[in-house]
Amino acid sequence: MPFSDFVGNPEVVQRLREMLARDHFPHAVILAGAQGSGKYTLALMLARAMNCLERPTNDRPTTGGSMDATRTGGLPDFCGRCSNCTRMGLAQDLDARFAEAVEARENLRETDKKETRIFVQTHPDLLVIPPDPPQMMIKVDQVRHVIQRIYYRPAEARESVYVFTTSAFMKEAANSLLKVLEEPPEFATIFLLTENPGELLPTIRSRSAIFTLSALGSAELESRLAKLRPDWNPRQRALVARLSEGAMGRSLSFDLEGYVAARGQALVILKSALGGSEHSDLFKTTETFRAGAEGRQKIEGLLRTLYLLLEDLMCLQSGAAHLVRNTDIQGELKKMSERADFAWVQRAAEGLGEVERGLRRNLLRSLSLDAFATALEPQG
Ligand SMILES: [Zn+2]
Repeated sequence: MPFSDFVGNPEVVQRLREMLARDHFPHAVILAGAQGSGKYTLALMLARAMNCLERPTNDRPTTGGSMDATRTGGLPDFCGRCSNCTRMGLAQDLDARFAEAVEARENLRETDKKETRIFVQTHPDLLVIPPDPPQMMIKVDQVRHVIQRIYYRPAEARESVYVFTTSAFMKEAANSLLKVLEEPPEFATIFLLTENPGELLPTIRSRSAIFTLSALGSAELESRLAKLRPDWNPRQRALVARLSEGAMGRSLSFDLEGYVAARGQALVILKSALGGSEHSDLFKTTETFRAGAEGRQKIEGLLRTLYLLLEDLMCLQSGAAHLVRNTDIQGELKKMSERADFAWVQRAAEGLGEVERGLRRNLLRSLSLDAFATALEPQG
């Protein structure tokens, strides 16, 4: 999967590759962007481009003009087939590798468990540092492990690569990282991935080059999905593209079935609140929200969906139909918006806030949803 497969942000990718070509790649790079925007994918692509054994040509088009130079635009790329590319590529499925590492730790003796930190490593010179459970933060022992290794020359690669997949550092861990950034070795590159660079210490930011991956347009996402998710029909692809907020990764892993199910329930609740359906339908729906972790997840999904539907109703009322995200049920929403005026939508949003606060106080879920819907019904 060479750089031409990376979706969106061509200018950022080009600048990074140009720095590679000039051998001026920074020792620390912050890749910023929303969840699913491709930060991790891009970091792994760059790691492979640094270390590909076949190195699809580095020649500038003016000097080379070979087939390869045309294919890669004259900038460094990677073959995806050599032993460095293949093993580094195995780290791409981060969720799976992370789960394996966590499971391996679970199987250790209690005493070893405490001292073992989570890493993902599929190549001796590529170390991925994910947040360590259960706190899901980067811990100081993880950074210490990096410090122990980073001053040794890479074993099989030209450049060793370290990828921190989150900017949630424990305080001591952040301070340790800072020490590495003050004196980085020539042959190592550190990637820091973050949704919000502001979470990193200013002193870490000032020692790193920052690149931001911005959101893609819905149209671009939709056309990519047409190739990658042919099992979704055009209406489904349009819906997923709008709900993924311009993040390719999020759209690919979008749980369409789960979303549509939650939305069905959200619609029952909203319709009941608008006085358009029987209470029995409402109670049947809210009854399914039970206690426990699974119930909590389910109701969080429901609340997100309810907010999205309210936003869409708001868009329809203010004549901004092009901003509606639930495009596949626009007709149904239009009908609802005729009965729900601006003040009603606002009261509904406030009511949802109440439900959320109630959940934090552990109020019975079904009851607080019933109360939400009945309080909004038209009086008289
Ligand atoms: Zn290669």
